Amino acid sequence: MTCLRLVLGDQLNPAHPWLARHDPEVVYVLMEIRQETDYVRHHAQKVLAIFAAMRRFAANLENAGHRVDYLAISDPANTQSLPGNLDLLQRRYRATRIEYQEPDEWRLDRQLADYAQQQAIAVQMCSSAHFFAARDAVGQFFSSRTQWRMEYFYRDMRCRHGILLAPDGKPCGGAWNFDHDNRASWKGAPAAPADLRPQQDLRALWQEIVSAGVQTFGDPQAAACRWPLDRGEALAQLAQFIAHILPHFGHYQDAMSRHEPRLFHSLLSFALNIKLLSPAEVVAAAEAAYRHGAVPLPAAEGFIRQILGWREYVRGVYWARMPEYARHNVLQHERALPRWYWTGETRMACLGQSIRDSLAHAYAHHIQRLMLTGNFALLAGIAPQQVHEWYLGIYSDAFEWVELPNTLGMSQFADGGLLASKPYAGSAAYISRMGDYCQGCHYRSKQRTGERACPFNSLYWDFFARHAERLQGNPRLGPVYRNLARFTPEELAALRAQAASYLQRLDEL
Ligand SMILES: Cc1cc2nc3c(=O)[nH]c(=O)nc-3n(C[C@H](O)[C@H](O)[C@H](O)COP(=O)(O)OP(=O)(O)OC[C@H]3O[C@@H](n4cnc5c(N)ncnc54)[C@H](O)[C@@H]3O)c2cc1C
Ligand code: SF4
Repeated sequence: MTCLRLVLGDQLNPAHPWLARHDPEVVYVLMEIRQETDYVRHHAQKVLAIFAAMRRFAANLENAGHRVDYLAISDPANTQSLPGNLDLLQRRYRATRIEYQEPDEWRLDRQLADYAQQQAIAVQMCSSAHFFAARDAVGQFFSSRTQWRMEYFYRDMRCRHGILLAPDGKPCGGAWNFDHDNRASWKGAPAAPADLRPQQDLRALWQEIVSAGVQTFGDPQAAACRWPLDRGEALAQLAQFIAHILPHFGHYQDAMSRHEPRLFHSLLSFALNIKLLSPAEVVAAAEAAYRHGAVPLPAAEGFIRQILGWREYVRGVYWARMPEYARHNVLQHERALPRWYWTGETRMACLGQSIRDSLAHAYAHHIQRLMLTGNFALLAGIAPQQVHEWYLGIYSDAFEWVELPNTLGMSQFADGGLLASKPYAGSAAYISRMGDYCQGCHYRSKQRTGERACPFNSLYWDFFARHAERLQGNPRLGPVYRNLARFTPEELAALRAQAASYLQRLDEL
């Protein structure tokens, strides 16, 4: 009467109800498979850190007295596919039942549902016991509304879960958000935090991955992996963030610096997405810090909004709209992703630096993703599916349920405005206001035309001119279109000619 319980690589939740008791008839199964390493090309640190965390999780389960079967990437018996391995394990244990937790990715959800249908034994899905809201919560919430907006959902979540509320049920501080306090640029003070995350030596695992033939990109940093690999390490990282970094999070949330790729961001997305941490405990820690007077309200609220609001909201959009969501391309952008997205070799200092940082660390903070790499791809009309594959591969926290809506919806406006009320487009004025990349750049941030004119400027105006029919009725873009109307026909023609010349040689910028 053996039951196999499948734990996927992003389901390393030691607090899952499954683990509350020991059952000798249950075998927990984990597998490192080419199906998962190969569906897109991943950053080396992402593959390494996920496999290392899976191995640690399996070892901890065994030490705690559970039965575990772990199929390593180098195991000759490993079929390298999820259904193939489940068949193998069924035979190995004469299993009478298979259980799995709800996958976060539509692709795996379908694969397991199809597998379940073909089996003679019972195959059952249960909750992953991780998120605040059910998969269909966002779809339900907006079922009778015409406009989907994160803010409405977020306020409902605050009330539903009693987070940052005053005793009268109103929001703490009398407002639901403090965005106006959260837009400072960073001038070098306060000092950015040192990276105190422990370094892990994963050289042996890296060799195993390479020998198995897995193709990756980016710097493996196999001898100095800094992603938390178990719950203890993730909790230590959370505590460090709450005590020393969160107080500055809100204020510098949108800032960028060529010297400090992290600034005051938490680096918690990897631990959250593989479920070493629960969003509820992270939110509770931030709220407690505010209630004890250690953290200002705008910082705590700004941080909580990312997790309780954005993270839950994008997941809900994903589940409400897949699989067709992945094919959206309302702006009909078809250009190829410039080659330098894979190397960082461009003369545009902001993009070069943030891509090189991403290749080195498998990390970029939100504004670098949204207003540098994402913004450029949007303005240049890159095919959203190519942009999606790049983001899905490069960041250690990239899993489709959260990456796809952020890329296709928020960053590329490919869903026509379901997720974001307007395209997140910015010219060099925004980038130089929020960061320090422009000093020393080959291009001139204040020039719109001419040999050294910053490409963001002409591409910005060309983008809005090109898409005027679709976008100019958007009330949030009123000021943009009023400014566009102020250009004389000659000025606009010169701007668009400049943009066209850049678009013809994107690989050389
Ligand atoms: C184009 C693009 C692609 C992205 N791809 C991913 C991805 O693959 N995986 C991912 O987890 N996030 C993604 N994000 C959202 C966000 O950029 C990252 O969550 C964040 O940068 C992770 O770094 P951090 O942990 O230091 O975040 P912090 O800035 O410290 O924020 C705290 C936490 O809030 C959550 N969060 C913040 N913003 C978002 C958001 N927009 N959507 C969902 N959760 C959010 C994350 O869990 C994060 O750990 C993407 C954003 C953009 C614009
Ligand atoms: S001048 Fe333009 S390309 Fe150069 S760093 Fe500034 S915004 Fe980026």
